[in-house]
Amino acid sequence: MSHTPSPGRYADMKYVRCGNSGLRLPLVSLGLWHNFGKVDPFWRATNIILKAFDSGITHFDLANNYGPPPGSAETNLGRIIKSELYAHRDELIISTKAGYLMWPGPYGDRGSRKYLIASLDQSLMRMGLDYVDIFYSHRFDPDTPLEETMDALASSVKSGKALYAGISNYPPEETEMAAGILSDLGCPCLIHQEKFSLLRPAANKGLGRVLTKNGIGCIAFSPLAQGILTDRYLNGIPEDSRAAKEHGFLKKEEISEEVLNKVRALSEIASGWGMDISDLALNWVRSHDFITSVLIGVSTPEQLDANLRIIKLDPFTAGQMEKINSVMRSTNN
Ligand code: NDP
Repeated sequence: MSHTPSPGRYADMKYVRCGNSGLRLPLVSLGLWHNFGKVDPFWRATNIILKAFDSGITHFDLANNYGPPPGSAETNLGRIIKSELYAHRDELIISTKAGYLMWPGPYGDRGSRKYLIASLDQSLMRMGLDYVDIFYSHRFDPDTPLEETMDALASSVKSGKALYAGISNYPPEETEMAAGILSDLGCPCLIHQEKFSLLRPAANKGLGRVLTKNGIGCIAFSPLAQGILTDRYLNGIPEDSRAAKEHGFLKKEEISEEVLNKVRALSEIASGWGMDISDLALNWVRSHDFITSVLIGVSTPEQLDANLRIIKLDPFTAGQMEKINSVMRSTNN
């Protein structure tokens, strides 16, 4: 029997207009990069997705290569939608991407029209969907004319296989150019997906300005720096953590004493404000004007509950932001 969603699922979540579009995204979105592949327990993936949906998370983010093995996160989400949420497809925003290596040979990687269009067809097949809501170019490809990559996005939208076009990991200058091309093609760039956290604050510099100027939304990925900006690693590397997993993208070397000192300093501020480090890290990201949604990952329903606490928080004041930023600056020395 398919899932009966909570009738109160839209009561608490905040929905934020994505750039100049009419699409509103939940303040917290859920990504399926880790924990939803064939290697992960399917029952747990199902529980997390359904709990997220019941909490007002309408947006689930994928890419062709999420797994492992690559593609299996899309297959799993497709199974969950088919068995549990099919009647609610119109309440869901499903995104996918193409840009990194997916299949052998010269047409399974980067930014060509050949790759993007074939990849989107494969993604739709794996998920059992007629269309995705957002189709992204996953990265800028200097070896493909930007016009070709953007035309592939625009024709995906015009063919009805995607409703909106997005870009991810594009530097500010290329973002501005991509936005111009898409706009000329009659398919405005909806959204930019960028790595943005207290440990990776670069988007704050040029990208945020470009996005605001061009009316493009911004969804911040890895806002917890893959789990470093939580209490997960303060006492070593837990066996069930991303850093301990062979297929995890978080490398143990990234959790240096220097980084942990920053986390400890943030933890002190957070506890003074009655928060956890993760609350502080997520709320710091959402407190930037150019941010539409904070794109989290979780390995348990409990982590999801914890991360949803930011919905109840107000954005930080300028004074609070300065306090956090000054701690980050001072621990850089
Ligand atoms: P996060 O920074 O939110 O890291 C998620 C990990 O942090 C979890 O798997 C868990 O680690 C840990 N965690 C989460 N919440 C808590 C908590 N409350 N307490 C303790 N630990 C917690 O995001 P991700 O790195 O997972 O990225 C999110 C999404 O962004 C991806 O799924 C994907 O959709 C997108 N993304 C896009 C990229 C792109 O190039 N466009 C690249 C990377 C990600 P553990 O598993 O150890 O429990």
